[in-house]
Amino acid sequence: MVVKSGKCIFCNKCGVENTEDAKYCQECGNEIVKNQSNDSKIDDIKSNNKNLNEKSPLGAAALNLIIAGAGFIYIHEYAKAVLSFIIVFLAGIISFAMGLSLLLSVLALILIMAWSYDETKKYNKNLT
Ligand SMILES: [Zn+2]
Repeated sequence: MVVKSGKCIFCNKCGVENTEDAKYCQECGNEIVKNQSNDSKIDDIKSNNKNLNEKSPLGAAALNLIIAGAGFIYIHEYAKAVLSFIIVFLAGIISFAMGLSLLLSVLALILIMAWSYDETKKYNKNLT
């Protein structure tokens, strides 16, 4: 058994710390075998945590229907949330001024939803 900790590997024979890419222990010359099952266990834990922290892109998109930009608050992108809200709000004003009712506002909202969906996917990708 070789215990892996950070970027170092501990020799199972003498317990001396070796660099991650070492093939043989620098102290006793014991062959260092990377413990694959241990690694995959760590990866499993990581991916479990990742799943817990993952946000639903569709959920984020849908949140914008309640309040424009809410999908960005969901992924802690507050500046984008405010920007989205302003875009939809301004689109609404321009829409009314042009006599288009809320048409532009609705179009802006659809774009924001698509953007929010995309950003949430990126957010999930960046989770480690
Ligand atoms: Zn050793």
